[in-house]
Amino acid sequence: MIFYFLLLLGIIYNLCYNRKTTKKGEIMTSLERFIRYVKIDTQASDKTGTTPSTEKQKNLGALLVKELLELGLEDAHMDEFGIVYGHLPGKGTRIGLNAHMDTALEVTDENVKPHLIKEYKGGTIKLANGLEMSPKQFPVLRKHVGHDLVVTDGNTLLGADDKAGIAIIMSALQYFKDNPKVAHNTICVAFTVDEEIGEGPKHFNYKEFNAKYAYTIDGSDIDVVEAENFNAYAASVDIIGVSIHPGEAKGKLINALLLAKELIASLPEKETPFDSEGKQGYWHINEIVGDSEHATMHFILRDFDDDGIQNRIETVKKAVKALQDKYPTAKIEVNFKEQYRNMKKYVAKKPIALKRVRSVMRKNGIEPISGAIRGGTDGATFSRNGLITPNLGTGSYNHHGRYEFLDLYEFNKMISVVIGLMKK
Ligand SMILES: [Zn+2]
Repeated sequence: MIFYFLLLLGIIYNLCYNRKTTKKGEIMTSLERFIRYVKIDTQASDKTGTTPSTEKQKNLGALLVKELLELGLEDAHMDEFGIVYGHLPGKGTRIGLNAHMDTALEVTDENVKPHLIKEYKGGTIKLANGLEMSPKQFPVLRKHVGHDLVVTDGNTLLGADDKAGIAIIMSALQYFKDNPKVAHNTICVAFTVDEEIGEGPKHFNYKEFNAKYAYTIDGSDIDVVEAENFNAYAASVDIIGVSIHPGEAKGKLINALLLAKELIASLPEKETPFDSEGKQGYWHINEIVGDSEHATMHFILRDFDDDGIQNRIETVKKAVKALQDKYPTAKIEVNFKEQYRNMKKYVAKKPIALKRVRSVMRKNGIEPISGAIRGGTDGATFSRNGLITPNLGTGSYNHHGRYEFLDLYEFNKMISVVIGLMKK
């Protein structure tokens, strides 16, 4: 009898665990919150040149404003660029939380159909459309055995990058609404647009956000604190050749496409993304557009080290100059554009943000490790502009593709970490 009573208690507890009753009596778990967000299509675009790059990002923004207002962030609003801001006044430091609303360009996020796998047993996961995820192909899966996972149906990405980050922040705010007696710092919230095209901070209003320091919740592993990332440049090379009828071209025709090929061949062969990992940088040819008369090449250059990125720029400059010297009748120009900088040295100047998160993680039973992002983050530009913003994990993996998944245990653990960061 007692056994059945305990069993019943257990079932009731399980049903209630992590459930929050909103004002209207509506029940929303952190998972339901996450699913609600991923069902809104917010894919960014690098073709429009507007901010936000896609108007649909504002659909999620509008929902988040409404929810923030319900959670007691009375000044919550979305600005003309689609960025959402809100503050929950408290005592003590003004600490910021940030996540991005847009999703990656590689795979659509239209009609996302998340599937829940209860207590992943290990082995191959069959996605609804016939695709498979095996631990052999994705060794990261082995770490998640026994946990509940959310996967896609194989037709879209999941959008946990970065709607898991948004759901973590919103669930933490829900906690403070449900527990009004728990003292907290002033919580500054911002949800950005267009992070995936590197434009999250482009119109960011630091005054409006008004945080002393902040955290982006936009990573994967929950024990990793990222305060280091690539220095990043884009390089575009414009080649104007000499066009002439191929039949009478001997010694005269300079084919822009062949010059492009020659330029690529002159760059360090073993320094492409294919050959690099860890702290190694690279050059990468993204795109070549054009014809035999006029071609434009788009490169990206990445390096953790300040001198390293400078060397990569010089290497491209030298290669272009050598090509120009060899073909004086062609016209070859190169332009560099800085995309973001490594945040390491800025974060080191104000270690409080790192210290605080490491101590909160330990209190939550997580031993923090330092990670370096082989890419960028909104926090890199924020930190450079004086708002120190390390990046934290969300418990989601395999971003930017159909194999993206969320580990619910880790996701909920991060909600506790974020609550701890905000508590007095
Ligand atoms: Zn992201």
